[in-house]
Formats: sequence, C-alpha cells, structure tokens
Amino acid sequence: MQPIILSTWSFGRVANAAGWPVLESNGTGIDAVEAACCAVELDLKVNSVGVGGVPDRSGRVSLDSCVMLSPSRCGGVAFVRRFAHPVSIARRVMEDTQHVLLVGDGADDFAESQGFTPTDLLTESAEQRWRDMMSGQRSIEMTANREERTSEGDEPRHDSPHDTVGVLALDAAGTLAGACSTSGWPCKLPGRVGDSPIIGHGLYVDPNVGAAVATGHGELVMGTCSTFLAVELMRRGASPLDALTDALQRIADSYDLSDDAQVGMITLRPTGQWACAALRAGYRTAVRDAEQDDLVEPQRVILT
Ligand code: ASP
Repeated sequence: MQPIILSTWSFGRVANAAGWPVLESNGTGIDAVEAACCAVELDLKVNSVGVGGVPDRSGRVSLDSCVMLSPSRCGGVAFVRRFAHPVSIARRVMEDTQHVLLVGDGADDFAESQGFTPTDLLTESAEQRWRDMMSGQRSIEMTANREERTSEGDEPRHDSPHDTVGVLALDAAGTLAGACSTSGWPCKLPGRVGDSPIIGHGLYVDPNVGAAVATGHGELVMGTCSTFLAVELMRRGASPLDALTDALQRIADSYDLSDDAQVGMITLRPTGQWACAALRAGYRTAVRDAEQDDLVEPQRVILT
C-alpha cells in the first residue's frame, strides 16, 4: 500500500510535513494524524487551531478535537481550555477510556490526570483579534473565503479566523485514520461546540469503506451529518468525489446559505483513492505522498 496524508487548508502543509515522516517510515496512520494535528496546534501563525486560537466572546480559548479508526475505536474532547493538544487527549479518550467524548472541565481534568502539561492557550495576537472583533473593528462572521488571498508567486496565506485542521491518512499497512482539531468560531458563544469533536460530523472513518473529514461552518455539517453521509454514500458505491458532491449538495439544499457559508471536505478510501470538494471556491487541500507535496484546488465546487 502506498501511504498518503491529506489535510485541510494551506496550513495542511504544516500538518503533512509532521505526519508524512511517520507514514514514510512505516508508522501507523493514527500516529501520523496525531503528529499532523499537534504541529498545527503549536503553530502560532494559525489562529483557528490550538495555541493562538481566537477566544470566545468571554475572552477564553476553547479547543475541540476527535480521532477515529473505526466505529468502535474513536474518541473526542470538546471545550478544552487548559491544554494545547486536544488531539492527543482525544486519542487518550479512545485508547484508555470506555467513552467516546469528554467535555469541559471533565476533559481538562482527564488530561491532567493523564499527565498532559497545562498551557496558556491565549496569545497576544489572538487577544488583539478578539478585541478588534468585539469592538466591531473586524468582522465577527466566519470569513471562509479569505484563504486564497495571494499575490502571484506567493504561497497561499492562511488568514481566516476559523478553520479546522482535518487530517486523513492511509498507512503502509492499509489502515485508515483520521483526526481534526480546532478552536472553532472566533467569538463564539461560550460553550458552543461545533462539528470537529463529534464523530460523524467533523470526521468519520470506516476501515473497510473509507474516511471523510470536514471543515468550515460546523453548524452546516452538524445538521446534515456530512462525514457520516459521505462514507455511507461510498459504502453504497459512490466514488469519493460523488460522495462529497452529494454530501455538500445536501447542505446547499438544506440551508438558506449566507454568502460566506463554506464547507470543505476530503474523502479517502482504503485503496488510496481520494477526493476533495467544497461548497465554494477558496478552500484547498494539502496532499502528500511519495510523489507529491502539493496544495490542490477542490475537484468540485458546488456553488459557483
Ligand atoms: N468546523 C469548525 C467549527 O465549526 C470550524 C472550521 O473548520 O472552520 O468549529
């Protein structure tokens, strides 16, 4: 099996740079997706994941994440406020508890009991962005299409105040794994949890069928169980791209979408076949395998 790792947005290249060496040296998919998310969680330039995430309306940062190998092997955490690596805590929930999801103080206390090191998640620049948003100097809305503000010859600059790092990997043994990690909507209502830590919403993996991950307006994904839907469509014979097209079209049909509504999705099958698509232009997928290390446009855009 040829390993591959696929991650959301341009910061997905940071994720892939950390996850690919694991796959390349015959490591496991779950180690690869965890390493990939951890790298973005520590990247202070990314203000929508981990340390440096923009806080909620009360001024506090809260993080959400989940990991998945199969329906019986998955775990998530939501509203983590004291630890930098929700993806690693989510993995620990999967591996060391009988539960799937821990939230709030319970998740933080669990992390502490497991020996994770507490970290201050709020950075000066995230706090400044929060002040600008709360004072009305900067839009509080999610601005999903700012990803592609590039000048010729530049790397795309990730300047969106939200966005999840979602990662899918296929390892040399043919095992699929997935993970996602986010600080959610900037200036969200305290207590708001989106799709990213919820199995079947931000992430779904069936080892025999395929995996799907989503990023963007979590509420749109949650109302349509988008990743579960995409995997179920593949189970019934849809190609990875057709599965994404139908899942995204379901969102378009189900909501009165605002002009900036965005959802990007990736699917990956155990054969290595994959696809990426989005509601609108402005979303990209980072792809890395033995032959490429690229940032690619969606293969299908639903709203043109
Ligand atoms: N889906 C995430 C959330 O709603 C954010 C994002 O991926 O843009 O929390």
